Amino acid sequence: MNKANIIIIGAGLSGLMIAYLLQKKGLEVILLEADKRIGGRIQTIIGPTGVTMEMGATWFSNPHQNLIALLDEFKIAYFKQHTQGISFFETMSFVPPQKFEISDTEESSYRIVGGTAKLIEKLTAEVEIHNIKTQTKVTAIKEVGNHLEVTTSDGSQYLGDKVISTLPPHLLVQTILFEPILPDSIRQLARKTHTWMGESIKFAVEYASPFWRENNYSGTLYSQACIIQEMYDHSTADNIGYALKGFLNGGTYTLSAEERKEQAILQLTKLFGAEAGNYVEYHEKVWREEPLTFFPYEHLLMGHENNGHPEYNKPFLNNKLYISGSETASKNPGYMEGAIVAAKNIAAQF
Ligand SMILES: Cc1cc2nc3c(=O)[nH]c(=O)nc-3n(C[C@H](O)[C@H](O)[C@H](O)COP(=O)(O)OP(=O)(O)OC[C@H]3O[C@@H](n4cnc5c(N)ncnc54)[C@H](O)[C@@H]3O)c2cc1C
Repeated sequence: MNKANIIIIGAGLSGLMIAYLLQKKGLEVILLEADKRIGGRIQTIIGPTGVTMEMGATWFSNPHQNLIALLDEFKIAYFKQHTQGISFFETMSFVPPQKFEISDTEESSYRIVGGTAKLIEKLTAEVEIHNIKTQTKVTAIKEVGNHLEVTTSDGSQYLGDKVISTLPPHLLVQTILFEPILPDSIRQLARKTHTWMGESIKFAVEYASPFWRENNYSGTLYSQACIIQEMYDHSTADNIGYALKGFLNGGTYTLSAEERKEQAILQLTKLFGAEAGNYVEYHEKVWREEPLTFFPYEHLLMGHENNGHPEYNKPFLNNKLYISGSETASKNPGYMEGAIVAAKNIAAQF
């Protein structure tokens, strides 16, 4: 049996941030991560042209002060989302798209130079990789005297004084067995707590040159009519890698990847011309097919439903189990900012 003072479940932004803050307080932690990849809903990929593309979290803005402070602390640079030029709004498939320009006075969105994964890499280095056990999926948590016994899918066991879960609450109660069973109130609440972006489909189309910029288009698109619902210029900060990136209609998860790609490229060529069909590579990620993020809901939940509920401030199993993660944050839940707010809230209790 492995022993640890504090066991953190999940090595996404919340888990890593909690580990970082608790280690700064001189506490020993171990992180158990089911995936072989660290980062959870933060995933930056690199295409054949070298462009970095976000398949998960991407943007933040000035109200996200805890995230900005962390980036400043780590000296991680960020840059303004490119929005200059003509943008499109498609209302209906049989109506020509509306064209508009985004005002300079609009609140800016920012992206991390080199990709959001830079933040995960830095936190991983701070926490030290040997404290993170990847491919270690927690399946059960049992109260044994003054400890919690954590069982993983390969049958290994970890004994901890405290356990902090950073799984989206809905995933936690649907995929981990508790003994004794958690109170009905928290189980019901977690089942009705939406996991931000759990149903989303991200896509990115990589190009050899930013032909849209050359034609005075911003690369921004909002559509109620076609498969691409929201899209932005995703070129790198130093303008040496080029892509368009955004969200496909989440309902199209029932189509094949090839069908989605065809529809997306068709939409782009209609809007931007034949050059849009001359892409280097198309990439996509269907998040509802990620069992370590999404578990189907019993009822329709609205985006952010029950996020930041005060019940998540209480420890369970005689003050040994804490439920954290972005969706539990009192401010900006569901976002990267929420993950940091939730982590700070937990660290303050130790
Ligand atoms: C497509 C998409 C776009 C987004 N865009 C933005 C954005 O632009 N801006 C923004 O601020 N936020 C955005 N977000 C949200 C942001 O990614 C999340 O708020 C944040 O990354 C959540 O971090 P977390 O650590 O709380 O949860 P997660 O990242 O979900 O981490 C939970 C971890 O637990 C692991 N895990 C799951 N089950 C188990 C188990 N049984 N045992 C052990 N480990 C387990 C998972 O593998 C994962 O690593 C986006 C998310 C997605 C999916």
